[in-house]
Amino acid sequence: MLERYDQRLRQRESLLRISRAITAQLDLPSVLNLVIEVAVDLLAGNSGLIALRNDDGVTRVYAASGLERENWPAFADLLATPLDDQPALAQRLRDVGADIGRPLRHMSALPLTFRNTTIGVIYVFRAALNVEFTAEERELLMAFADQAAIAVSNARLFQSVLREKQHLDALIENSADGVMILDARWRITTFNRAMEQLTGWPREEAIGRPCAEVLAIHTPQGANICLVDCPLQRRPPEPNPIVEGWIDTRDGRRLYVQSRYAAQRGPTGAFVSAIANVRDITEQRIDAEMQNTFISVISHELRTPVSIIKGYAETLARNDADWDAATLRDGLAVIVEEADRLAQQINGLLEVSRLQADGVRLELSDWPVLPLARRVVERFAPQAGEKFTFELRIPEDFPPVHADYERTRTVLENLVSNAIKYSPDGGIVRITARLSGDHAIIAVSDQGIGIPPEEQKKLFRRFYRVDNRLRRETQGAGLGLFLSRAIVEAQGGRIWVDSRPGRGSRFSFTLPLATPVLGDQQMPVEAPGRPAAMPVVHAAPATEPEIAATAPAQTEVPLLEDHGARP
Ligand code: ADP
Repeated sequence: MLERYDQRLRQRESLLRISRAITAQLDLPSVLNLVIEVAVDLLAGNSGLIALRNDDGVTRVYAASGLERENWPAFADLLATPLDDQPALAQRLRDVGADIGRPLRHMSALPLTFRNTTIGVIYVFRAALNVEFTAEERELLMAFADQAAIAVSNARLFQSVLREKQHLDALIENSADGVMILDARWRITTFNRAMEQLTGWPREEAIGRPCAEVLAIHTPQGANICLVDCPLQRRPPEPNPIVEGWIDTRDGRRLYVQSRYAAQRGPTGAFVSAIANVRDITEQRIDAEMQNTFISVISHELRTPVSIIKGYAETLARNDADWDAATLRDGLAVIVEEADRLAQQINGLLEVSRLQADGVRLELSDWPVLPLARRVVERFAPQAGEKFTFELRIPEDFPPVHADYERTRTVLENLVSNAIKYSPDGGIVRITARLSGDHAIIAVSDQGIGIPPEEQKKLFRRFYRVDNRLRRETQGAGLGLFLSRAIVEAQGGRIWVDSRPGRGSRFSFTLPLATPVLGDQQMPVEAPGRPAAMPVVHAAPATEPEIAATAPAQTEVPLLEDHGARP
């Protein structure tokens, strides 16, 4: 009797030890395997299984001991049988045994109950005849089952928390915005991919560093806002402070960013952690700056011709003056010229706003390039002055293009007008056309002031003007190239610039050919070394300027060398 008591005591002690070990585990499959191994062992069974109820109400085998996985589905009917229906359970047990070819003669089944909810059932089976489970053994299993239920619930809870965390991590990682999480000492604990791209900092290096070091947002004057006015330390605390400013990325870019913070505070109001959403708003910033510049430029641009017109008109209309015919003619000519300029400016503005509202509408047709280039030169040559020489390098038989004639004329006029405007000392303005695959490349080159490399990409932005001496001296609102790019791209082409400061610029754009030809092969090739016959149109000719074409340059015209010395 004493011996039996001792044995039960030992059993209880080992049960307690095992239960503790199981409860300490958080990995669900490990907990379940351990529980079923121990349960089978405890009841001296031959096999056993744990079935858990899923969220959808279906009970399914999660772990087993002494039963191959492929046999688990055979237990479905048994699992669906209520535990208080003994005859049905006995029948199902025999059926499963026959199904899997294994004697399953006795079964002890105990529900796993946690907070009054049955989360699953432990089944232990014996194969031998006449060794039924005793009430004591069931009681032992019950005590174990209570502990096991806690362990299983904990592990399930942990698993779902882990899943949630992984989900959240994936959301943060894949967010298009830069996201970083800071600890109570403003050190970075999470740094997503967008943040790496934005700042140029690899996350391994960013994590653990103060946020003011990695995301050093500063004012245009260079003051680090995060150090002088940390948004998370403002008094009184703001719920969602926002900081905007410039950052110098680790890989040498300069970006304007907006960072929004959400701080988490403890019960006493102490800062615990924060999440920051960081966005690159450089484009918007530049746009806003340009809008401002634009307003000042445009008001100047529009006001100048208006005041000239007004001045001339008032002078000519004076009652006390008797103007001779020549003075009247000259004065009226100025008025017409300034009115034209004003109309042109307004048209440009309308064009831009139309473009923004509904894109570029094209009227495509086939037409030859040379007559258009001639027409543009004829328009500009007379007003350009003697210091300019115009050259056309387009062969007479250059194949027709398929594009919007009027729009392309606008592009060419913008480029030729710029070539003149930005060549204060004059020089050669040359228009060339050459073939490249299924399109033509039209280029306008000059010997003007040129454009620094860092400015070249920005020229095609709306309202952009290079900040140089000529910016103030020349009229312009920074719209010509923006419009030109929109037109060229709407026709499926591209526009670009090659330039060297102080030496000149060449603007090129592509146009689709009416009938694609095989590149250079179909074009006459100039004999090497033979100087091209260069018809030259001088400014302000007395008669109609004669503009002839020359053979094409078979390769891209070098930017400066072939311009030769200035006339
Ligand atoms: P705008 O000439 O009215 O200012 P554009 O959009 O035509 O506007 O050109 C934008 C800027 O690009 C100009 O302000 C000028 O700084 C620069 N640019 C354009 N063409 C040339 C050129 N041929 N040579 C030098 N700079 C140029």
